[in-house]
Amino acid sequence: MKRIRCPKCYTAISFDDKIYEPGRILVFGCPECQKQFKIRIPRANADKEEERPTFGMLTVLENDFQLKTDIPLYEGDNIIGRFVKGTNANAAFKTVDPSIDTTHCIVNVKPLKNGRTTITLRDAPSGTGTFLQGELLNDRERAFIENGSIINIGAATIILKLHTDDEE
Ligand SMILES: [Zn+2]
Repeated sequence: MKRIRCPKCYTAISFDDKIYEPGRILVFGCPECQKQFKIRIPRANADKEEERPTFGMLTVLENDFQLKTDIPLYEGDNIIGRFVKGTNANAAFKTVDPSIDTTHCIVNVKPLKNGRTTITLRDAPSGTGTFLQGELLNDRERAFIENGSIINIGAATIILKLHTDDEE
């Protein structure tokens, strides 16, 4: 059983969370105040996902189209693009920039056996291209990027910030 509280009057409500599919959204009516509210059944691997180590951050700078956004980088392909509902881009960010595709470019993080990590950037492909240090990436090019690398997609400037040893 799981116990939740009404967000309005804090009345405790118990229910059997095991009978519902993970990720499912349930609608509750509070027996005390009649407030209706929704909760989402956590995914079984949700804790695991949160514990995945991040290797650094892509900082999207603020401009006319978006606020400053930090995108955490995980091992494997980090697919960057303009966030839309149901997106396949696992590293999408909110912007109204029409020149940024919903899957625009991909940052791949690959830890090596020697303890180092290689990070590469490639175009998704996108309509307007992906720029590294001001240079347009060629089709199928995989460019190595490093701490401080500057990526431009659409009107957005994105800076790669890797975790360094003196950080936690
Ligand atoms: Zn209530």
